[in-house]
Amino acid sequence: MATPLTAAQMYAALLAEGVNIVARPGWETHNRNHKGAWGPVHGIVIHHTAGVGSGLADYCSRGSSDLPGPVCHGFAAKDARTHLIGHGRTNHAGSGSAAILDRVIAESGGPFRPGPDEVDGNSRMYGLEIENRGDGRDPYPAAQYDQAVRWAAAICRAHGWTAQSVIGHGEWTRRKVDPSFPMDQFRRDVAARLNSSPAPKPPTPPKPSPSVLEPFPGATFFRVGRRSQIITEMGRRLVAEGCGRYKSGPGPEWTEADRQSYAAFQRKLGYSGADADGYPGPTSWAKLRIPKT
Ligand SMILES: [Zn+2]
Repeated sequence: MATPLTAAQMYAALLAEGVNIVARPGWETHNRNHKGAWGPVHGIVIHHTAGVGSGLADYCSRGSSDLPGPVCHGFAAKDARTHLIGHGRTNHAGSGSAAILDRVIAESGGPFRPGPDEVDGNSRMYGLEIENRGDGRDPYPAAQYDQAVRWAAAICRAHGWTAQSVIGHGEWTRRKVDPSFPMDQFRRDVAARLNSSPAPKPPTPPKPSPSVLEPFPGATFFRVGRRSQIITEMGRRLVAEGCGRYKSGPGPEWTEADRQSYAAFQRKLGYSGADADGYPGPTSWAKLRIPKT
């Protein structure tokens, strides 16, 4: 537990760690402190953006109507520049597992298997968004990955935390799967930075995890009578998206409740008519982000 860094302390810590800073005007006071608590802080949550492009720093600052910005503290772009987006409470972690919070506070290490969402992460965690498609194929350039390690290490060093204070969003809540690389390796790379003097040579970025998301099983997969764990996982994600139309379950068998739930998700994405018929297609499937079974 710790009092949050001031913006000046944050800037100095990042600079000293070799973070290639792009400070957005006003980042020091851009936050959501008017919506809830900020601090005491306990740790760091790592994210990927699930998309790439030049407008992402703006998006991280502004957010969307569903998720007003700032949506993180730092944004590590593909070009190995790290943008300072906000400081204070930001909309990055959402609610998460009390058991995981206990592990982060105790710095007891994994396994980080989140329980139900019970505690507010936005008041307790710093957050970094890393520009990556998150599809398990998009690589993390070495210089970008090194920036992410430095960003996390800088905050750990400033607070006197170990690398066990750093978790992935998918380790915080069952609702999420990001980032698309193994967090155990990321923690080892942060620990290597924290523990060696002079600083170690830049870490080698891990390969994107190929098994993070369930690939689209094909349109013919979804028919009455089909039984698969994939359908259970799909249903769980639909419930997490607020689209569950289940009276019981979700379960492994494809039913009308699955179809209605999926149709609700398609409408949430803005589809209508035949595009919201409740039968999964590859685009909506990718957006649902179902953990690989
Ligand atoms: Zn995330």
